[in-house]
Amino acid sequence: MTLQKFGVIGLAVMGENLALNVERNGFPIAVYNRTGAKTDEFMEQRAQGKNVKAAYTLEEFVQSLERPRRILVMVKAGKPVDAVIDQLKPLLDQDDMIIDGGNSLYEDTERRTKELEATGLGFVGMGVSGGEEGALWGPSLMPGGTEASYKELEPILVKIAAQVDDGPCVTFIGPGGAGHYVKMVHNGIEYGDMQLIAEAYDLLKNVAGLSAAQLHEVFAQWNTTDELNSFLIEITADIFKKIDPETGSPLVDLIVDAAGQKGTGRWTVMSALELGVSIPTIIAAVNSRIISSYKDQRVAASVELPWPTSEYQGNISELVNKIRDALYCSKICSYAQGMALLSAASKEYGYNLDLGEMARIWKGGCIIRAGFLNKIKAAFGENPDLPNLLLAPEFKQTILDRQQAWREVLVIANQFGIPVPAFSASLDYFDSYRRATLPLNLTQAQRDYFGAHTYERTDKPRGEFFHTEWTKD
Ligand code: NAP
Repeated sequence: MTLQKFGVIGLAVMGENLALNVERNGFPIAVYNRTGAKTDEFMEQRAQGKNVKAAYTLEEFVQSLERPRRILVMVKAGKPVDAVIDQLKPLLDQDDMIIDGGNSLYEDTERRTKELEATGLGFVGMGVSGGEEGALWGPSLMPGGTEASYKELEPILVKIAAQVDDGPCVTFIGPGGAGHYVKMVHNGIEYGDMQLIAEAYDLLKNVAGLSAAQLHEVFAQWNTTDELNSFLIEITADIFKKIDPETGSPLVDLIVDAAGQKGTGRWTVMSALELGVSIPTIIAAVNSRIISSYKDQRVAASVELPWPTSEYQGNISELVNKIRDALYCSKICSYAQGMALLSAASKEYGYNLDLGEMARIWKGGCIIRAGFLNKIKAAFGENPDLPNLLLAPEFKQTILDRQQAWREVLVIANQFGIPVPAFSASLDYFDSYRRATLPLNLTQAQRDYFGAHTYERTDKPRGEFFHTEWTKD
């Protein structure tokens, strides 16, 4: 019997599409799904004429694979991944490898890698970005874990990944949970990008007064610029064009403004708080989704807590350009935060991340793909120890040139009562980062006053701590 090169467990949308991507790139595959009827459906509807072997037991599946066995698990994140690993383990041999391509929490991946490596098996926790289309035609792949297993997988992964001008969108990320950590932060950055675009939309619609057709024009034009050209700006332009056949209105206007979330944004925030990394733009984005879900309360409060609406008196096309500048400056701050988080995690967890490479593998396939990532890659290429993206020459100058417009947009938003939490958080981040002196000397005095937490003095060496009896003369 000829053996298949690659196995996929889990035939929901992501597993099916990745399986077909692997097969299309010349690697015979075996597939298995817990519910056999789903396997039948896949074989009948999508695998006809392809080099796919269906298995209906895990034993049969494992036996159909050449060694070392390469098994991609694409099942629901959490307990199902452990369940599948537990069933597979006794069936596998030394050096066989399990790849978890789901959105697993990096801490789970850390644990699973240790457990499987201890038994002589390989484990690769692989972030996959790009949704179903990406999975089928070329995702961005973030594999971490057992490096020897990655080497075995590399010839397949470089073929199935998205291809960009400087190579396939995949690289070995690092040991343990590194791959899923980077995917988590990628998703946090995605939250930030989406919220910033939503705020730009709010201002363009409700201050500049643009119609859906005009919004389409503006975003389509922004998508041609070096700064903003990206998948998310492109789909935003498309969205404004879509007319609802039932009502004849732009479809976007009929969509309830309560956003869902699956948890990776929240995980990013939790990790940043644990590591002591400031990521206010991403926190604002997660928070905005939370407050958006208070739909009924917001509708009631809109009557109770009014703010007079007025018409913008300034020049509309100038305002549109200022909003574009505010969006770009805020986006730079958001990525500065995401990269700073990756840098801190890399040190804390020994991931040894190459930040320029992270920007490179996000250039294709994934949701945050953007021309702008070239600039980030170049910034870390020039200085791998860059303490913050804001200090890279290109970004520094970009913000200095645009900060007047950015500040004006925030004033206008405040005057019109338009919430711009991610724009504001970004500017606050910028202003906090660029100020040599913050008012937290007072905070330290208060902490020492009520809790004897001690403080350092500006006129004494750092590391010397003092306490004052504040109520004594
Ligand atoms: P999903 O809806 O998350 O999971 C469904 C699959 O999991 C089915 O094959 C199901 O088998 C299997 N499953 C559930 N519990 C199981 C268990 N206890 N034992 C064995 N199999 C079990 O599928 P998905 O949307 O394709 O996503 C797969 C993974 O990729 C998830 O971690 C997801 O977060 C991640 N991801 C998704 C996207 C996306 O755009 N959808 C993008 C990137 C990453 P049955 O058919 O037998 O129920």
